Order: sequence, then structure tokens, then C-alpha cells
Amino acid sequence: MDNRQFFLQNVAQTSDFPLAMAFTFAKGSYLYDAEGKKWLDFISGISVSNIGHRHPKVVSAIKDQADKYLHQMVYGEYLQTPQILLAQALVNTLKKHTSVAGYSIDNVYFTNSGTEAVEGAIKLAKRFTGKPNIVAFEKSYHGSTTGALALGEEQFRRNFRPLMPGIQKIRRNELEDLTVIDHNTAAVFTEIVGAEAGIRPVEKAYLHALANRCHEVGALLVFDEIQTGFGRTGPFWAHEAHGIAPDILLSAKGMCGGMPIGAFMAPKHIMAVLKDNPILGHITTFGGHPVSCAASLATLNVILEEIKPEETIRKGERIKFILEKHPKVSEVRGVGLMLAAQFPDFETLKSQIDVYINNGLITDWFLYCDDAIRICPPLNISDAEIDIFEEIYLTPNVFIF
Ligand code: PMP
Repeated sequence: MDNRQFFLQNVAQTSDFPLAMAFTFAKGSYLYDAEGKKWLDFISGISVSNIGHRHPKVVSAIKDQADKYLHQMVYGEYLQTPQILLAQALVNTLKKHTSVAGYSIDNVYFTNSGTEAVEGAIKLAKRFTGKPNIVAFEKSYHGSTTGALALGEEQFRRNFRPLMPGIQKIRRNELEDLTVIDHNTAAVFTEIVGAEAGIRPVEKAYLHALANRCHEVGALLVFDEIQTGFGRTGPFWAHEAHGIAPDILLSAKGMCGGMPIGAFMAPKHIMAVLKDNPILGHITTFGGHPVSCAASLATLNVILEEIKPEETIRKGERIKFILEKHPKVSEVRGVGLMLAAQFPDFETLKSQIDVYINNGLITDWFLYCDDAIRICPPLNISDAEIDIFEEIYLTPNVFIF
């Protein structure tokens, strides 16, 4: 059997048509196969490689930390410098590098992934407010573990019942649905840009109304910035553009330059409920792994030092302009470098994406929107690389690499 057959035989599959690409090397905006053929990565491994693949500062932070120590102890017991420095740096992104007033978030709980950050936030909100219900948007994706799954779409949760009860869904940007949020609501989970819905931003006025409603009834406002955070939409956090601070903030994906980590962040007085009744109210073995924390701190600093928000927005606008030129595209949506272009149907889009892959360009569709192309390149994509994208995107029979 060759590698592909072993992959299909021994590595668990969750679809019958995995892309089954075999890359052996990655650097910057490119993935390479064993023959040295390269592909331009215009999805960043689904919003992970925000500063490109194997950024030298991230690789060096990983190596330095690997030379010091790996796992020491389960989460929260020992003073581990990479965790402490990363927690401080994350809190500083909220206090120093933002246009939003009124943050009280100063406490970070590290997880291994996005869905675990969501689970932690669900528990925290219920425990802090003493209320049973969680409100989430239609077509929001918050993860695949059973709690996070319950917040997601029916198609993905229906055969995994019984699910976590007490979930209520509201429509994004529909003011009339806000009445669903009431005195029984522990938290409202909000994506600033609905990612897997096919890039659907929340409107500023709506977000203000949502925040007001949460404050009115004593529900916590949770921003799931797992896909939008770490510069993806321009500002370090997407919510900075709306001038509203959340009660709980979630991060993962692009947070770690290609390594696994996640976090839920809250004011210390909220987080403190996890210490009491029961003690050890949320525990993890590997959350905040020191190597991941070191890589994440390096990523955070690269974004603050090397990625200019206005450049992300400029490049996003340039790519939008290119996306609109495609004769089959009816609509282009996006914020910063988180973009989607609407094709007529899945079949048209899929055949287009296959041609792009054959020509050295990686794109994708979305979990809940299989007729729009996902465009989410590294934030440090160059204009020359955008030129290459344009050539392949608009003249799909050209073979560039
Ligand atoms: N929230 C959002 C907005 C996401 O996009 C994702 C992943 N696509 C998750 C949560 C879950 O993250 P993970 O896959 O790391 O569990």
C-alpha cells in the first residue's frame, strides 16, 4: 500500500472525499510536495497560518522552549513563564492596542483548541450567572465537542442527541430576535464575522443593541474570535472595529502560528468562580502547553510588530476587487483578509476549486456555505503573491508553478 492508501485505511476520515494532498514542506505562503511543486495557500489552513507557514520567529520560539522544558504539570499549578508572558501579552492587546473602552478582562484560561475554549466559556457563564440558557446565532460554528456542537447547526447535531439542553438560536442582525435573550440567559455567543456561515459580519448598530440587551438582563456577552482574532480582519481583535468589549473573549486558530492552543478570557472576578464549589471547576492536562504558549507569544508579537491593520484592510480590498471580476461571482463579502465570493452553486464552485488546486492555488468553501469560495490568505501575503492569485483565479487554465 502507498501512503495515500494507509491514510485512507488507518487515519480516521470524516468525509468520503478528503483532499488527500501530500505536502512535505511549508514556508511563508506556500506548501510544497515531495517533488518541490508548490501551492499558494489562500486559506491559511483555515485561518491558522495568519503569519504564514513556519514564521522564523515562531520556529525559533518553539525550539528555545523545547530546549528548556515540555510538560511539567497539569494546568494551573506551576509558574510556567511562557504561560505567564502570553497571558500578560493577551491582556495588553485589550488594554493598550485597542480603541475599545471599558475592558475588565485580565484573566486568561488556556486550552488546547477552540472548541475547548467554547466549552470553558459555557461552563464559566453558567456558573457565574447561575442561569441555564445559552443563546447562539443561526449558522454559527463554535466547535465539535458536544457542548459547542449544541450551539451549531441542526444538520451537524441532529444525530448526536441528546445534546446539551437550554440552547436558543437567534438570527444575526435581526433586532426583533433579541427578546429571546432574557433573565434565564447565561451568555450569548457571538462571532463578529460569521465565518462558517460564509463570511457574514454583524452590523455595528446590531452589536450595540445586543450588548445592551445582555446588560439589561444580566447575560454575559461572549465574543468567539477564534477565527476573527489575531489580526484576521485588520485590528488585532475584530470587535475593536465596533467599540464594544465582551465579558468573555475566545481565541484559538491563528493564535499560535501553526501550533495548537486556545483560550477563554474574562475578568478575574468572573473567572474566580471556577475555584470554588467545586474546587478545580475546570481542569486540563495539556491546556497552555509551554511550547504552544511560547509559539503564541511569538505570533502575537509578530502581528503587533510586522502586520499593519491598514495593510490587511488594503490587501483585503484589493482581493475583493479581484474576486468581483470573476464572471460567475454574484457577490463578494469580507472584512480584512477574511473573504468569500458567491458562486451559483456547489458544483460550479467545486469544479473551479479543483482546477485551482491543479494550478497551484488552494482555496475552499465553508462548512455552512458550500457555494462560496473561502479566501483567507496569510496576513503577510505579498502583492506579488496576490498577482499570482489573480492570474490563477481569473484564468484557471494557466499553470503557474
Ligand atoms: N469557533 C469558531 C468561530 C471556529 O471557526 C472554530 C473552528 N472552525 C471553532 C470555534 C472550533 O475551533 P477548533 O476547531 O480549534 O476546536
